[in-house]
Amino acid sequence: MLSVHKIEKFSKEFETKTPQEIIEWAVDRFSPYMAMSSSFQTQSMPLLYMVAHIAPDMPVFFIDTGYHFWETLMFREKIADEWKLNIVDLYRDSRWDIFARQNTRTLPLEDPNLCCYLHKVQPMQNALKGYKAWISGIRRDQTAVRAHANFLELQGDGLLKINPLLNWTKADINNYIEEHNLPHHPLYEKGYRSVGCAPCTIAIGANDDERAGRWAGRGKVECGLHTSMFDKKDIAESKSEFLLDATKE
Ligand code: SF4
Repeated sequence: MLSVHKIEKFSKEFETKTPQEIIEWAVDRFSPYMAMSSSFQTQSMPLLYMVAHIAPDMPVFFIDTGYHFWETLMFREKIADEWKLNIVDLYRDSRWDIFARQNTRTLPLEDPNLCCYLHKVQPMQNALKGYKAWISGIRRDQTAVRAHANFLELQGDGLLKINPLLNWTKADINNYIEEHNLPHHPLYEKGYRSVGCAPCTIAIGANDDERAGRWAGRGKVECGLHTSMFDKKDIAESKSEFLLDATKE
């Protein structure tokens, strides 16, 4: 694994590299112990397209929370089939099944941080065991938290998170989609600029921030995959403190 010094050095160098150059660097260094994650929304298409061409065998983690729009699931099927992606579906740990079933309707609204932890963060933590690195599509222009992200971020257990699109803007994404004639998520034209789970996503106006429709009006902007919530091992012992920390991110 890279030293902290080298991670900082490469991270600075990547400020002037293209996403494709960063992905190629990562594949050379970490494959096959590397995966990417994707939520299969419109702005995910450029990174997926790049990875499909540079490293077609790379596992693509899709977190199936059970709360997705059916349009997302159908879109994922279509893209996975056409681009021959190596999709790996991630699910909640079965030990939460009884609790989650009892609270299916209320959990996303009454405790979205706990809901995101059970359905997104913990499945991703479990899936990444044994891997050395994972590629994420976050951008600095998306949220205040992401504005401070680095191209390489060392996470718990020595896992390296790689963010090749960090410096891209919404316009860069749109230009790439147009240039390569990439498909849009079926709900995009209906105002869903950023699509997550159905209970936590609404349509927005053309001039709103890209993620304004996610957990709108609920004081939450991140699911936890890109905050300190990701490095916590278990929610059980300190739930309230844990969630308080997570919402401060
Ligand atoms: S986005 Fe909403 S429904 Fe999906 S896991 Fe998070 S709180 Fe639950």
